[in-house]
Amino acid sequence: MELNKESVILRDSYGRAIRDLRISITDRCNFRCFYCMPKEAMEWQPKSEILSYEEIITLAEVFVSLGITKLRVTGGEPMLRRDLESLIERLAKIDGIEDLAMTTNAHFLRGRAEGLKNAGLQRLTVSLDSLTKERFTLLTGRNELDRVIDGIDAALEAGLDPVKVNSVVIRGINDDQVVSFARFAREKGVQVRFIEFMPLDNGKVWRREMVVPGDELRRLIDEVYPLERVVSGNLSETARRWRFADGAPGEVGFINSVTQPFCGHCSRIRLTADGMIRTCLFSTVEHNIKALLRSGASRDQLVEFIAATIEKKEERHHINDTDFVQPLRTMSCIGG
Ligand code: SAM
Ligand code: SF4
Repeated sequence: MELNKESVILRDSYGRAIRDLRISITDRCNFRCFYCMPKEAMEWQPKSEILSYEEIITLAEVFVSLGITKLRVTGGEPMLRRDLESLIERLAKIDGIEDLAMTTNAHFLRGRAEGLKNAGLQRLTVSLDSLTKERFTLLTGRNELDRVIDGIDAALEAGLDPVKVNSVVIRGINDDQVVSFARFAREKGVQVRFIEFMPLDNGKVWRREMVVPGDELRRLIDEVYPLERVVSGNLSETARRWRFADGAPGEVGFINSVTQPFCGHCSRIRLTADGMIRTCLFSTVEHNIKALLRSGASRDQLVEFIAATIEKKEERHHINDTDFVQPLRTMSCIGG
């Protein structure tokens, strides 16, 4: 841990500053995206194992006092958690938070987007993998495309800015829709980000051949809507961003986690809904801060635990190595 007069910065053993905490607040979900959850027989964590709002706030305050400036609330589906607005309001009030965002499937956004904004939510990311009803239903297990698009509209109307759309692209399943997604970005004025399919699925269906490199998608879009690179100074940004050369609103971004890993600039850590710190999406070990918290640990003890955990952050993921081991827990449990 590095200390200077103005601020405390958590650094891992590779010198990366840790600024970004993703908090999963539930492992439950009303969708069954096949790359994330099994259709049936998902075993939820018992409620007693899930961090209460009080516990989340206590931990978030400690993390922020250690230099975390960005929080993202995720899940499972975070909007399933009761009175989410009150949690957002309390997180937004933590001194030192510069950026408060959430990732959701948008199913429950209509009627609540404004309340979330008023509670202090700044940015929203919505997951949407297909623009046709049939394919959407196939991918998510739910026939709810219209409702999700309406949720995106509700977020835009509420003034959440920016609204981003995450789309996991899987070869042979939805890779033919990238140009339609680019058109969607232009029409709605949103940033659509294409995510390479990662081996974090529950059914162990991931195969390398199913990953569509982001560069391939970009070329397909560029042929129809010429693109210009958006250069951002933020090295830890996961997406390579492109705007439309004709000046149309919206953007496309490519999160090439498999073919062009960005681990060298990773500033993220995760807190799972059941109170484990994960230092990488692909960690095979977790660090049980809930046990420490529930044992009545002091703030200093929590700080010491967090600093020691960050020290163990992995240098990089090993998806592209022959000895890659898929983590036992899947995206819905880890919090994407
Ligand atoms: N339920 C919310 C949602 O879907 O937006 C939040 C949680 S979800 C686990 C967070 C993100 O993880 C989503 O954008 C989803 O598309 C992404 N995701 C889940 N499984 C993935 C996988 N195997 N590969 C790449 N992205 C994945
Ligand atoms: Fe649910 Fe999100 Fe996973 Fe889809 S990606 S099953 S919406 S947690």
